[in-house]
Amino acid sequence: MEHLSVSEARRVVLESVAILGAEQVKLEQSLGRVLAEEVRANRDQPPYDISAMDGYALRSADLAKVPAMLEIIEDIKAGDMPSKILAPGQCARIMTGAPMPQGADAVMRVEDTEAKADNRVQINQSVKPGHDIRRLGENMRNGEVVLGPGTEITPGVVGVLATVKCAQVQVYRRPRVAILSNGNELEGLDEPVDPNKIPNSNSYALMGQVQALGIEPVLLGIARDDPKELESYLKRGLEHDVLLVSGGTSVGVHDYVRPTIEALGAKMLFWRVAMKPGHPVAFGIIPPISSKVAEADAVQGVRSAATQAYLEDRQGSEHRATQQCAAAGTFVFGLPGNPVSSMVCFEQFVVPALRRMMGHARTHRRTVTARLTHNVKHQPGRTEFIRVLLAKEEGGYTATSTGAQGSGMLLSMARADGLAVLPADSNGLTAGSIVAVQLLDGTALQDDAGYKE
Ligand code: AMP
Ligand code: MG
Repeated sequence: MEHLSVSEARRVVLESVAILGAEQVKLEQSLGRVLAEEVRANRDQPPYDISAMDGYALRSADLAKVPAMLEIIEDIKAGDMPSKILAPGQCARIMTGAPMPQGADAVMRVEDTEAKADNRVQINQSVKPGHDIRRLGENMRNGEVVLGPGTEITPGVVGVLATVKCAQVQVYRRPRVAILSNGNELEGLDEPVDPNKIPNSNSYALMGQVQALGIEPVLLGIARDDPKELESYLKRGLEHDVLLVSGGTSVGVHDYVRPTIEALGAKMLFWRVAMKPGHPVAFGIIPPISSKVAEADAVQGVRSAATQAYLEDRQGSEHRATQQCAAAGTFVFGLPGNPVSSMVCFEQFVVPALRRMMGHARTHRRTVTARLTHNVKHQPGRTEFIRVLLAKEEGGYTATSTGAQGSGMLLSMARADGLAVLPADSNGLTAGSIVAVQLLDGTALQDDAGYKE
């Protein structure tokens, strides 16, 4: 199979996955989800003309000559309904959000008035009709579509949903994601420290990356480099929409991921991508075993031993809660074992896939352009992702490498604000060159407000 470029591989991934079905959640649980329905206003907002200020509702014609003295005939608080109609020379004391009384056509804020004895007020300025009035329906009209499917539920959207009384919201389902690490040398988090072993960091770094997208993944643990063991772990992964397998995807004699996944019926769409780090990264689709075998059974009118074994295996697994096997099968990503490579590949391929499945219109990480503060060497051939720190400068950002870029150097990933992208055909870049930097999670925030007033 040819080595795909990063963008070709990402296209293959995005063309393969689709938005999952919808489910209903409470408004209180909807933040960060994606709307799966059209939402309409259930009434006019505001429901009548209201005052935008604490002040006086009055007739603008009375202020043709200022100062003018007006008689206060009523006090209208938010929540009250006015009971009087203003005649010439009259006004009503009114609070923000309270309905305008009939006869009034403007509001004068209290700061521009002088209260006098005997329920009178002196107004020192004239105003145009409509001044400081919020008009009936200016926010939304009854029946108007205010939100559409695909809208990401931000705090502002939660507010709009509450405004139209959507206590239950239809959102796209979040993918079920399982994470499996693979390798004889790996030591679990709960195992005692063995100087000859390598701590399993990938399961947890990937878990963090998945959680950062609002999904709680299932950690399947560590499979040893043994085809039988790997197969039984992979089968558990098939109860999920997405399976991330780290390690064992290379071409070493003990890298069993490829043959084992293929034996489970996976249709592999790529095995190699021209990128650094992350060269041995794979993507494929494993059809639901149950349906495949069950189809054959249906033809024969029997339940085959394979179906029986499969069903028993699933019943014995500790993942009964997720028993509905993904209807579309399981998308499997074979991520490289090197800790930085697996995280970089996740950012390039898994982030867009999971975001698309959740219904997000924006599937990619944000990028900024930055000025390199130093030279960067590069051999043409593969797209390279360099861990960098960003700093603000007048008009943009600078990017500086976090240090040695070995694909096992996880600390340099932990410190990075982003990944500077060196195009595959580059011969290296000199200090001052402008690069695109893909922001890593959390770096969309910054130290200060970032604007002058
Ligand atoms: P592999 O892709 O299996 O050839 O592994 C490449 C490198 O990544 C080896 O040095 C492994 O020890 C290391 N590695 C593989 N899986 C993990 C993991 N889950 N956590 C930390 N390092 C790993
Ligand atoms: Mg290995």
